[in-house]
Amino acid sequence: MSKLNDALWRALADSSRSVIWDGRWYTCGEVRAHVEELRAQLAALGVRPGHRVMVALPNSYAFVVSYLACLAHGAICVPANSDMPTGELERALARYRADYGMIAPEAVERWDAVLRERGFARGTSVQMDAEGGQVVQIWQGSPGPSREARQSLAEQHPAVLMFTSGTTGEPKGVLLTHGHLLAAVRNVTQSHELTASDVAYCILPLFHINGQVIVLLSTLVSGGRIVMRDKFHASLFWDDIREHGVTWVSCVPTILSILAKRPVPKEALGTLRFLRSASAPLTPAVAARMEAACGVPVIEAYGMTEAAGQICTNPLPPGVRKSGSVGKPVGMSLVIVDAERQPVAPYELGEIAIRGANVIEHYEGMEPAPDYGYGPGWIYTGDLGYVDEDGYVFITGRAKEMINRAGEKISPREIEDVLNAHEKVARSAVVGLPDPLYGERAVAWVVPEEPDAVDADALRAELESLCAAHLARPKRPSQIVIAKSLPVNATGKVQKHVLRNLEPRDRL
Ligand code: ATP
Ligand code: MG
Repeated sequence: MSKLNDALWRALADSSRSVIWDGRWYTCGEVRAHVEELRAQLAALGVRPGHRVMVALPNSYAFVVSYLACLAHGAICVPANSDMPTGELERALARYRADYGMIAPEAVERWDAVLRERGFARGTSVQMDAEGGQVVQIWQGSPGPSREARQSLAEQHPAVLMFTSGTTGEPKGVLLTHGHLLAAVRNVTQSHELTASDVAYCILPLFHINGQVIVLLSTLVSGGRIVMRDKFHASLFWDDIREHGVTWVSCVPTILSILAKRPVPKEALGTLRFLRSASAPLTPAVAARMEAACGVPVIEAYGMTEAAGQICTNPLPPGVRKSGSVGKPVGMSLVIVDAERQPVAPYELGEIAIRGANVIEHYEGMEPAPDYGYGPGWIYTGDLGYVDEDGYVFITGRAKEMINRAGEKISPREIEDVLNAHEKVARSAVVGLPDPLYGERAVAWVVPEEPDAVDADALRAELESLCAAHLARPKRPSQIVIAKSLPVNATGKVQKHVLRNLEPRDRL
């Protein structure tokens, strides 16, 4: 048994303990029994350790059981968005090369034809709730011989095949082992001081690393409880926290921006220890507003799929949180490197490289990066930033998104920070578009706080003067587009590759 499975099963030992709420509380005894039942069904259908099992279920008790069954069985779990339209499913299946699937009956109605075309056949169903809910259908593809030997269910055994969010291009395959996941869990439980008294609120998609490792695995291993929702619902947020005694919530900045605009009921705050934000840059004003309204710290962290979750985090009090910083690396190494991939001094800008027991050494189907003189095993994140004299990391943007205007490198993040500081701006995204004279030009997309009430021309004029006051001339966006919304993925990240292909005109 891997140490991860060992830690999970030890934490689930007390049969009568409530552990997951999804409409009702499920006990550890139920979780263990359902995992065993599902695992037996998988084995009966021929699933062997190392086979790939697509788990396409919404956030639910059934997801947790299916995920744990894959881990216990040594199958490679390939988590997938159960809301995918069929066109996306076709592309995803080609990428996943899954041998089996665990699918919610609701999704099967839409996916049936595509699954059958791809050679999948419906196997058994497992029901985990007396009322008829929490059903998983197992679909069988054309499994090849298992790629792993049964006895290898140890730290190096592959656990999960994840795909990066595809923010900068095609998603990349990240194969995480049981060892990667356990190391990641240890870093999170240590930095957030998670214990058996914690109650996590799970509103981020479990098919992404944040929901899966930071919320689900870290809470289970530390013996805490999880309150599950299919997704974030602003109207349920504070009631859920009060009713179930939630102690911490992993959020993305979009969620905090929405919450910051709504009243915070004081009576809901009794048990809350902290709010966490990661996945995209957090606007300091939003963090400050939420801290003032809730009286608990907003902890900004930095993570990526390649690191099985967290890379850096700000500390809980009495540690110092630095506004605008993602904190310090926990349980792993981080260096900032120049274009030749050599380490630079504090405050010098460069690319962030990471290495650690939780970090993959190469992408699926790709070679590891060479040793640049400070040892092998580093992943070059494509994120740009610097480290201050105390070791706090500041992210300034992404290498792929830098705009090259006649040789001048412009960071979209720098422009976005200026635009976001305007009180009528809810969010912004800056992209580079081709320009016949300068090579590239910066175009800013801005979503107003109240899109229906805004005077677009007046706001544009105000933003132009704001940029003129805060940005050198070449950095000022050549065009400011006012829009009702921006294309975002399931974790609320702006999909800049989509934005680059949209005609830049106001969309209100
Ligand atoms: P792809 O690699 O396919 O382009 P992605 O990088 O968005 O997609 P993820 O692994 O889900 O895929 O996200 C990790 C990235 O999210 C980081 O590399 C970083 O760019 C961004 N990120 C995470 N946390 C923060 C943060 N606190 N501030 C700024 N950016 C963040
Ligand atoms: Mg990435």
